[in-house]
Formats: sequence, structure tokens, C-alpha cells
Amino acid sequence: MFGLAEKRRARLRARPFPDEWAAILDDVPISRRLPREDLAELHGHIQVFLAEKRFEGAGGFAIDDAVRLTIAGQACILLLHRASSAFPKLRSIIVYPEEYLAPLEDVDDNGFVTEDVESRSGESWMQGSLVLSWADVLADLDDPFGELNVVLHEFAHQLDAETGEMNGCPPIADPELRADWAREMDSAYAVHGRLVDRSRPTVLDPYAAEDPSEFFAVVTEAFFQQPRRILVSLPRLYGVLCRYYEQDPATWPLEGERPPTDS
Ligand SMILES: [Zn+2]
Repeated sequence: MFGLAEKRRARLRARPFPDEWAAILDDVPISRRLPREDLAELHGHIQVFLAEKRFEGAGGFAIDDAVRLTIAGQACILLLHRASSAFPKLRSIIVYPEEYLAPLEDVDDNGFVTEDVESRSGESWMQGSLVLSWADVLADLDDPFGELNVVLHEFAHQLDAETGEMNGCPPIADPELRADWAREMDSAYAVHGRLVDRSRPTVLDPYAAEDPSEFFAVVTEAFFQQPRRILVSLPRLYGVLCRYYEQDPATWPLEGERPPTDS
């Protein structure tokens, strides 16, 4: 069974990558910064991704190749160089035109339940689906060196979920890396949480203090979006992320980088 699935994926990876798809991908800033030698591998992952995952429009949104390629192209960067199984729990990506309302239930200490709604730009579920707001995906493309990237964030949650639990620790086969990962993540999470508690400035988005799973998702965004900043400010964390993702985005070309501003 495993052999057949792998053979099928090898065939998909070897398919010619259509020029129209390459043109769409070229409009995604992060894929333009990738080392050229990674592009063929990225194209292979995208072929598998598009063949295996279902895209669904919600709230009247129509899915087209630009939507599929822009999402798959960024998600698959998380798979490069690693022996990955292509987000095995994920079956469908649901895309809303913009932020959507999700029900929110809160139970207080006395057991009173309050029902409310909150607007969201994305979410990732253990049981096969991931939701994105297309307006937020586009906003991140317009700010390629900003700290936010909702696609990387939600797909990092999918990596995390591969163990069957979203706890900030994706499956890591190498015991030495697993130990280093746990130590550096725990320590960085604790420091970040203390700074947030005291309303002090933080390198990472304060939202990372929510729980270890959000910390991993936010750190993944920052690692790819602002690699040099993370390398300089959180070098030990940057080091374990480099070993886990088997990539070193701080070495990616500067071409097109946002010029420094005074603000
Ligand atoms: Zn999250």
C-alpha cells in the first residue's frame, strides 16, 4: 500500500510543471526568494499537494489556479528537503473571501456558557481541514517581510498535528534534534510569555504566548518571513528551526527586500 502511494507520488512529482502555474508562483514573494535549486523540488511537492488535497470556496468564494498555487506554493515550502508525508491529516482547504465569523463558546468558573462569534483569518483542524481568508493571504503577499503569513501559520499547525496532538512539537525522528528542540522551544516560549505578561517589547508576535502550539506556528512565520531578525535576536531558536526545516532562510537573496525605513 505504502509502495503504491509512493509510486503514485513519484509520478506526480515528475509531471511537467505548467508555465501558467510557474507564472502564478512567481507572484508569490517568498517563492521568488527561494534558492533556485529548490524550485524543482517545490514544484514536485505542489503537484502532489494539488492532486491530493481538495479546495473548497466558502461564502461565495470561487477557487481558481491563482488561489490553489498561491496557497500550495507557500505551504509546500515547509516540506522542502525533509522526508515529509505532505500534510497527511489534511484533506481539504476551505477558502473564504475575507475574514469569517466562527462560533465561540466560553464556559466560566461557575459553568455558565456564553456563546459569541469572533472573526478569524484562518484556522487549522486535526481532522482534515484548514480554513483561510483569501483577503488575509493577499495582504501577507503585499507585505513579504512583515511578520505575518497566515498560510505558513496554519500549515505549521498541520505539521504539529502529525503526532496526533497539537502541542508545538511536530514529529522529529532524530533524538538529538528532538531533545534540542524541546529545550530551545520551551525556554524561548517561557521567556516570551514573561515579556508578554509584563507588557514588554517582544521579538515575536505577542500572540505566540497563547500556547506552545501557537508559539510554533508564529515562530515558523517569523523564521521564513524575517529570518535575519530571528537569527540575530533568537539565535538558538533559529538554529533548531534550521535543523528541523533543513533550510536557512537568512541566507536567501536580498533581492527585492524591503529597504530599511526610519520608522
Ligand atoms: Zn494558530
